[in-house]
Amino acid sequence: MAKKQFKAESKRLLEMMINSIYTQKEIFLRELLSNASDAMDKIYYKALSDDQLVFNKEDYFIKISIDKSARTVTITDTGIGMSKEELDNNLGVIAKSGSLAFKSENEAQDGHNIIGQFGVGFYSAFMVADKLVVTSRALGSDEAYRWVSDGADGYVIESAEKATIGTEIVMHIKENTEDEQYDEYLEQYRLKAIVKKYSDFIRYPIKMDIASQQPKADSEGEFEEVVEEQVLNSMVPLWRRNKNELTDDDYNLFYMDKRYGFDKPLKHVHISADGAVVYNAILFLPENPPYDFYTKEYEKGLELYSNGVLIMEKCSDLLPDYFGFVKGMVDSEDLSLNISRELLQHDRQLKLIAKNIKNKIKSMLQSLLKDERESYEKFYASFGRQLKFGVYNDYGMNKGDLQDLLLFTSSKDKQLVTLAEYVERMPEDQKYIYYATGESVARIEKSPQLEVVLDKGYEVLYLTDDIDEFALKVIQSYNEKEFRSISSGDLGFDVNSSEDQEQAETEETKELFAGMQSLLDGKVKSVKASKRLKSHPVCLSSEGELSIEMEKILKGMPDANGVQADKVLEININHDVFRALQQAYSNDQEKFGLYTQLLYSQALLIEGLSIEDPVELSNNICRVMV
Ligand code: ADP
Ligand code: MG
Repeated sequence: MAKKQFKAESKRLLEMMINSIYTQKEIFLRELLSNASDAMDKIYYKALSDDQLVFNKEDYFIKISIDKSARTVTITDTGIGMSKEELDNNLGVIAKSGSLAFKSENEAQDGHNIIGQFGVGFYSAFMVADKLVVTSRALGSDEAYRWVSDGADGYVIESAEKATIGTEIVMHIKENTEDEQYDEYLEQYRLKAIVKKYSDFIRYPIKMDIASQQPKADSEGEFEEVVEEQVLNSMVPLWRRNKNELTDDDYNLFYMDKRYGFDKPLKHVHISADGAVVYNAILFLPENPPYDFYTKEYEKGLELYSNGVLIMEKCSDLLPDYFGFVKGMVDSEDLSLNISRELLQHDRQLKLIAKNIKNKIKSMLQSLLKDERESYEKFYASFGRQLKFGVYNDYGMNKGDLQDLLLFTSSKDKQLVTLAEYVERMPEDQKYIYYATGESVARIEKSPQLEVVLDKGYEVLYLTDDIDEFALKVIQSYNEKEFRSISSGDLGFDVNSSEDQEQAETEETKELFAGMQSLLDGKVKSVKASKRLKSHPVCLSSEGELSIEMEKILKGMPDANGVQADKVLEININHDVFRALQQAYSNDQEKFGLYTQLLYSQALLIEGLSIEDPVELSNNICRVMV
């Protein structure tokens, strides 16, 4: 029998398979099982339009058998089979979808990327086998043929005997080498696990004879080996079942089984979409972030199935970054099994699904917020930061989706509030949404600028997360109410009496402040009478876009040279300290300089900024004491 050559392109792929250093060789089984399942589907669809053909579900199954001594694994199906020509055409050339994948990733010379996430079909069997024997009998034919290949140098097709319709593939498993173990593919438990992992939801039973030790009848303490045919796959995936028949426990078990997380999910949503794109999905909201969630190592993504067959463990294109915490899976009939990562990215169906899923997640969160506030707050403690990053990133493109999902601690009972809740209960005369920044709520509560806003009866949002103020800057305003820091120059209301105003306006006071300012040249932009301080003598505020809090955060980042907020030193002219300043100013310029430095240092410390020269501060305090 003359050996036929593989087509050039197929040969290259085949060589890559044979020599593959790829570690995930196990996917060969997924590929063969999905082909078997496709072959049975073909009969099923044919029967729909062919009265002569009856499809009895129980006749259709896949069987995996292992023969350790012969080093073979055999996969038999009762599908549509292949004629002689089909064996030649289908197994001699690489499948169409696969060849596309091949072309778009041909820069990956060792085939690493190609098999990484996607099937390359039938040839993947050569990753673990050095010889393949495919015996097949096509539907409606009495003849059977055998296709035999031991690698890249070709294949032969010859006549064969086969009693039933369908295909049998015998894989001769490679011998172990120094670097590679192939023996494991001859182990029942191993194949069983691979079936579970990738092919659990194939619609046809995947059977295997499983041997186990059972107590021997009639004789105590003795065991015998019993071989029993078992179905390895569960066939009907949870996501194809009717959600009305499923309980929370079912979903929680699925979450655990799938190892989406080790926590108990806060909420799930089960989607059966039947519109422009057909897919099933189950999405989970975890309660706790994975340990690596806020690191670069974390990989977002949903499992992606094509018609019940897992094609990708983490499809990142299905989730926007800001919903990267969501776990779960998507199954669509509209996706091909053999599709490369790059093609997938541009796949119209996938984009539609992703958009759809984004909206589902959004409404899942909205309803959690509305109906299960406690759970939402738990969720927010874990993942709120991610939402805020989402607002901030991409130039605020997604703020519309996200701003209503944000929570901030409010001065009112220190409860978490949404922006909507805040605005809803704003007094009529309140112009802005006020916020204060600091490391902790306790620290913010001590800030001198807070008093006057709270006394006015206004609520203040306490921002304790680095990202908070940046996120608010991106949102700009909510319901036409702008955000305003309590330490910004203009609070939007007057706190001074007209007497204060007069005193602040006197020539003497102006001169005094000018004197302080020149002493603090380069450090503060101006010194002025405070309109907000009540009991404290001094504070810092900022003019312009960059707040003091933002300066602090940016200074903690690399390449942040020169970021500086325009600081204003505010003095409480009703405080005794101001009296002392006045006296020093008229009588003792040295003392005036000393007081100025001290007040400035105090203001820095209150803001949580560092003092340039702590030794000088310490000396200054001593000078005042003695
Ligand atoms: P794909 O499944 O993407 O078409 P494969 O390389 O996996 O690519 O398979 C190539 C072709 O070989 C299939 O399209 C099918 O026509 C045929 N084939 C493979 N396995 C079987 C099988 N068990 N029964 C019938 N036909 C098969
Ligand atoms: Mg295939």
